[in-house]
Formats: sequence, C-alpha cells, structure tokens
Amino acid sequence: MATDKTLKKKQVSAEAAPELDVVVVGAGFAGMFLLHRLRGLGYRVKVLEAGSDVGGTWYWNRYPGARCDVESMQYSYQFSDDLQQDWDWTERYATQPEIIRYAHHVADRFDLRRDIRFDSRVSAAHHDDARRIWRITTEKGDQFTARWFVMATGCLSSANMPDIPGVDDFAGAIYHTGQWPHDGVDFTGKRVAVIGTGSSAMQSIPIIAEQAASLTVFQRTANYAIPARNRPLDPADVADTKAHYGEIRAEAWRMPAGILFKPNDVSAKAVDDAEREARFEHRWQKGGLTFLGAFNDLLLDEESNRYAADFVRNKIRQTVKDPATAELLCPTNIIGCKRLCVDTDYYQTFNRANVSLVDISATPIEVITATGLRTGGKDHAFDCIVFATGFDAMTGSLLRVDIRGSGGRTLADKWAEGPKTYLGLMTAGFPNMFMVTGPGSPSVLTNMLPSIEQHVEFIADCVKHASAEGLTRMEAEESAEEAWVAHGDQVAGLTLRSTCSSWYIGANIPGKPRVFMPYIGGLPAYLEKCSDVVAKGYDGFRLS
Ligand code: FAD
Ligand code: NAP
Repeated sequence: MATDKTLKKKQVSAEAAPELDVVVVGAGFAGMFLLHRLRGLGYRVKVLEAGSDVGGTWYWNRYPGARCDVESMQYSYQFSDDLQQDWDWTERYATQPEIIRYAHHVADRFDLRRDIRFDSRVSAAHHDDARRIWRITTEKGDQFTARWFVMATGCLSSANMPDIPGVDDFAGAIYHTGQWPHDGVDFTGKRVAVIGTGSSAMQSIPIIAEQAASLTVFQRTANYAIPARNRPLDPADVADTKAHYGEIRAEAWRMPAGILFKPNDVSAKAVDDAEREARFEHRWQKGGLTFLGAFNDLLLDEESNRYAADFVRNKIRQTVKDPATAELLCPTNIIGCKRLCVDTDYYQTFNRANVSLVDISATPIEVITATGLRTGGKDHAFDCIVFATGFDAMTGSLLRVDIRGSGGRTLADKWAEGPKTYLGLMTAGFPNMFMVTGPGSPSVLTNMLPSIEQHVEFIADCVKHASAEGLTRMEAEESAEEAWVAHGDQVAGLTLRSTCSSWYIGANIPGKPRVFMPYIGGLPAYLEKCSDVVAKGYDGFRLS
C-alpha cells in the first residue's frame, strides 16, 4: 500500500513528466525533418503549425512567379538517398507549386501529418524552472508541456506590412507576397500597384504585367538582379546528378554558401579589363546567384565590387529602352550587399507600354486612400495593391511569440539590442530551447536546406545525448555566447555585406536594432566549430 509519502512522490513525478518530449513550432522544411528525425529516435514529438498544411515558406509564398533561386537539385533534402533518388525535379529552379508538391510528398512518405497540429499558431512558451519543462500555448488556448522546445519558425516567415496610414480605407484588394491567397489572383484588366523591388517583387512583376491592364511599380531602392536562365532539366543531367549525388552533396558542404559551383579564385583587380568583362559575361550567361563568384573579392573589396556593379548597370541600360527608367532601375549601392535577386525578364518588363516605375526614395508613400495611394503629393488610382515588402527577418517569428526563459525573462527583453545566440542554436537563459537556423548561424547566407539539415541533426544529437546521460537541462553558457556574438560581429565587419540598409541588419523594419544577424564566416568554418564543440563534450553548453 502506498504511504502518504510515496503517494506524494508519485504525484510529483506524474506531474513532473511532461506530456511530450519535444514540441516543435513550424512545419516548414525544418519542422518536417525535425519531426521525422526525433520520432525515429523514439521521442514523443508534436509539431504546431500556424498554416493548414506543411511547406512553410512554400505554403505561404504563392505569388505569381515564386520559385527557388538555388538550383532545385541542390535545394532539396539529402537525409534520405531514396527520397533524392525517387524525386524528379523538372526545372533548374523549381516553381512554388512544384516545391509544395515535394513538401507534400515528403509529408506523405514519412507519414508526418499525424503528429502535426495545423491551424495552431503558438502565442506563448514559458519555461518552468522547477519542473524543467516548457509550457506552450496556442492562440486557440491549447496547451502542451514538453522537456524540449524547438522554434523551427523560419528566417523569412513574418510578413512585413509597412505601417502606411489608410490601409483599411482602400476599396480594392490588398495582397502581401508572403501571404498570398491559395486560390490565386486574377489581375486581368486590373490597375495594379506593386510596392517593393526585392526578390519577391522581381519574380512577380513580369507575370503580373502580362495580365494587368496597367502595373505601377513603387521603388524605394533599386536592386541588382542576375538572369535566372531557368530551363527544363535535361533527364540525362538529372540522371547524372543522381548517380553522383553523394559526391556533389559532399563537395557542396565545403562551399561557403553550401552551394556547389566553381568560384574563380582571383581578384577582380588582378585581371585586365577584357578578361574581367569576359568573366562577368560568362557568369551572366550562366545565370543565377553564382555571379558573385566571378572573382574572389567581390564582397570584400569596394573597387572589385564596383566592377561587378558597373557590369550589371550596363546590362540594365542595354535592356531598358527608356533612359530615364533605366537610370532609376540602376542600383547605386554595393552589389550583393542586399540579397542578390535572380530574375526572369524583370528589366525587360519595363519596356512594356502598360508598366511604369515610380521612384519613392525621396517621397515615401504618404497614405493609402479609398482609390489608391499618394506619394509626392500625387494620387495614383488602383484596383489592387501588392505589398512585396518582405519580412521581419530572422527574429520576427521568434519575437512574435511570448517566450520566457529562466526566471521568467522574456526573449524580447534579452534581445532588446539585437539577437544574441550561441551558434544560432540556443540563447543563454532559455534552457532546452533550440532555434533552427537562428540568428548567429549561416542560415540565409547559404542554401537553406543543408543548413536546416545540419541544425536538425545537431539538435537531435543534443536531445539523444542528454537522454542517454540522464540529463534534463541544457543551455548555452553566457561566456560562450558572448564570444560567439563577438566573433560574428568581427567577421561581419570584414565584408561589404554589413555596409548597407538590408534586412540582414534589420534595416527594413523601423526601430529594429541594427545588427548583422546571420553568421558570415562561411558554412565550412561554422561546421568545423560545431564539430569541435561536440568533440569537446558540448563545449560552451551547460548540461545538468
Ligand atoms: P519556413 O519555411 O519559414 O517555415 C516556418 C513555419 O513556421 C511556417 O510554416 C510558419 O507558418 C510557422 N510558424 C511561424 N511562427 C509560428 C507560430 N508562432 N506558431 C506556429 N507556427 C508558426 N532559401 C534558399 O536556400 N533557396 C531559395 O531559393 C529560397 N527561396 C525563397 C523564396 C521565398 C519566396 C522565400 C520567402 C524564402 C526563400 N528561401 C530560400 C528561404 C526559405 O525560407 C528557406 O529555404 C526554407 O524554406 C525555410 O524553411 P523553415 O522550415 O526553416 O522555415
Ligand atoms: P525584400 O528583399 O526585403 O524586399 C522588400 C522590398 O520592399 C524592398 O524593395 C524594400 O525597399 C521595399 N519596401 C519595404 N518596406 C517599404 C515601404 N515601407 N515603402 C516602400 N518600399 C518598401 O523582401 P522579398 O522580396 O520578399 O525577399 C526577402 C528574401 O526572401 C529575399 O532576400 C530572399 O532571401 C528570399 N526570397 C527568395 C526568392 C527567390 O528568388 N528564391 C524570392 C523571394 C524571396 P528597400 O530596399 O528600400 O528596403
């Protein structure tokens, strides 16, 4: 018979056991693979997802023209060779519909949906120090407890809707590229405004222009784009890649951005004008992001960078017939400082009679009215306004949840002056909480799929290690975090990438602290650091 004492002990241990081992927030590529990996290790896992299905980025960003700009055969999972052998990509850069089909295929293949709760936006997550568990609450009021808590909420998942007065007064339709209607939008015969000229705008503008009666693009900062040169994949090339996938993936891990291509290991200043032009032209004809690999110092040396920028500006001038429009479209900043864009017919679109460009660099949009918008004192009338205004990147989705760590300290308070993490995986004072591709990791400066996979493997290994050792608490040490943040700041300062008003430094969000958020030391250096940390018994993490 149980005594009072043993009963009490039983009650405490029953209460102490969380209902789940791991709660994961987000069912994009990160959350999906986490679920598969952790469930495979025997853990009780629940994924909570705000959307109604898997796919994350590719669930939300359904705007016309949405597609990846890392080649499909590389922008895909590699954890399962059967999966990468079975799946057939059809284009060099897969469209959003093809990528979402892939996500569905993965969900079906690994039977993921049974442990994902959809339409469940997490509003709060509080650490219970006494019980060493996390309590997670959704907006609907559902509650979960778990030993481990992982924010797989994405770097580019909090849509940035600028605070322009009058939005509610507009009589027409308003869209954001990152929250696109699932049934699509028919712009036929409509007068359309697009605000923004980043990657999402550049992909959607050429297609919207083909449908709309008129399209007006409101540009605050001109951006550089390199032609995608998208094409259907040749089945023979696909077969060849599949036959050598192992080697290709292994080589890609050794590249700074996790993308396999052949960089030229020479300075743009070390060659004469003709050779420089030829090398840029070669990359331009190949198309895509690897243009920045034409020389080894384009993101390190202003003079070299200027050669690349001049080359692209000349291409813009050659493409756009109206000289005034061409000049407006020519960016003046460092090429590659803001995320380079990859386009199909973006600049050509401005030769269409139904497309116009409005420079709002000096005259921000003042107000949205019932019939359109006003800038520079002039009213423009529209049926639809498309906000291609990007995201509260890297920290947005983390800080939109009321996360409280040890002693009830909020993440918002800890990160008031910018995000601080150890390896972009954990932040001191928030035990047992991981982030996938968090600030301080290479993340958005790389092909995201391998970076996601590496973080998932690291996190799964941590959970496995702690369970095997009978440990229930893991957290980053303050000193290790400070050293990592200082190192991140130092390497960011060595490149030209930290020198402009990009979303990498939070400059697109008014009031956001200006800190270069991703780790720019390159994937190989980061991987080496992670391996070293593990080899030294999780150096910089405190386990108890
Ligand atoms: P996401 O795909 O963003 O998924 C996060 C999920 O978390 C979302 O489904 C979201 O609904 C959910 N979520 C967020 N907050 C909550 C909450 N509080 N409660 C519940 N659920 C929540 N990267 C590349 O490497 N190559 C590319 O070509 C490329 N193209 C891109 C194109 C676009 C249009 C965009 C926006 C991004 C692109 N990226 C690309 C980056 C892309 O985000 C990553 O490649 C990858 O898809 C991220 O996966 P994830 O699972 O980490 O995050
Ligand atoms: P973005 O790069 O941040 O571009 C947003 C655009 O909106 C910028 O031109 C910005 O101007 C403008 N803008 C923002 N607020 C504004 C305001 N208040 N008034 C006027 N203009 C405003 O966002 P994105 O295009 O959605 O892309 C975000 C990232 O997602 C990309 O960099 C990339 O990493 C990823 N992505 C990839 C692809 C792909 O090709 N695979 C496609 C889409 C997105 P400023 O420059 O002046 O701030």
